[in-house]
Amino acid sequence: MTYGFQFRPYRRRFLRSLTTNHGKWDIREGIILCLTDESGKVSWGEIAPISWFGSETLEQALDFCRQLPEKITNEIIFSIPDELPACQFGFESACGSEFFSMPYALCPMPHAQSFSALLPAGEAALNQWETLWKQGYRTFKWKIGVDAIADELEIFELLIHTLPASTKLRLDANGGLSYEEANLWLWTCDNLKANPELAVEIEFIEQPLPVEQFQQMLELSKSYETAIALDESVATLGQLAACYQQGWRGIFVIKPGIAGSPSRLRKFCQQHQIDTVFSSVFETAIARQAALQLAAELSRNNRAIGFGIDHFFEQEETWFQSLWNDL
Ligand code: MG
Repeated sequence: MTYGFQFRPYRRRFLRSLTTNHGKWDIREGIILCLTDESGKVSWGEIAPISWFGSETLEQALDFCRQLPEKITNEIIFSIPDELPACQFGFESACGSEFFSMPYALCPMPHAQSFSALLPAGEAALNQWETLWKQGYRTFKWKIGVDAIADELEIFELLIHTLPASTKLRLDANGGLSYEEANLWLWTCDNLKANPELAVEIEFIEQPLPVEQFQQMLELSKSYETAIALDESVATLGQLAACYQQGWRGIFVIKPGIAGSPSRLRKFCQQHQIDTVFSSVFETAIARQAALQLAAELSRNNRAIGFGIDHFFEQEETWFQSLWNDL
């Protein structure tokens, strides 16, 4: 198959900036791909890299797009190197996608209950969860490792005793804890979980330690009841396979947008039956549609998926039209 190929870089400002252990994030930049097959059918793809998370940079992705000819083939698409995982995802999902017109029109969001909603870091979480709860969210993620641990533990205790029964809470450290702090968080969570009165479920702690400290995380996962999910450690399919081979049997957070080839990712998950949580890279509806499709196919253990991001961007439809109105 041969496709006519066009692309457009984009920039979108977050409605409020995103704070993680990696710092502040104000603008999402990416690339929208447009493929037209021999019969004139148009399909869309999106490259949404996060270089500080382990993917290529936006510049590398743009360089790759710029050096491509105006007509590209499946051979080109399926031989994109592993160093460009967000490109692999964007191109492969574009040639498999079934968007005939504007993509958002065919992308109804599933019910909020299947999604995890991101709470703001720090004390703001205490005032924000209720709005999200009213929108239907029942699983929340809260960033830790952002402020001093004593303050965060205090807010955490308040949060745990404020959230309604049957809420699930995930704690995401983005690799920002020391070994001692990770032990303290896991110990605190184990103690809370041991209390039969506790109505909130602490689902897991995500990426407590930096990527280099895999062995310590493996050891922690065997020492505590509270589950650990790897995220930064398994940003790409290559890293995911390596952690699996070194014995990781905890949870894997998969961000399809930067994981690499969706067909190879699908094969790996099916073959090894790993416990996965699918998560967003703050992509637009185009990459989201492809990522959600993978999540629906490959999610196990009834885990909410981390795409509860509607409240982070302006209205999508107007934005997309303004990006592409010169086509
Ligand atoms: Mg994470």
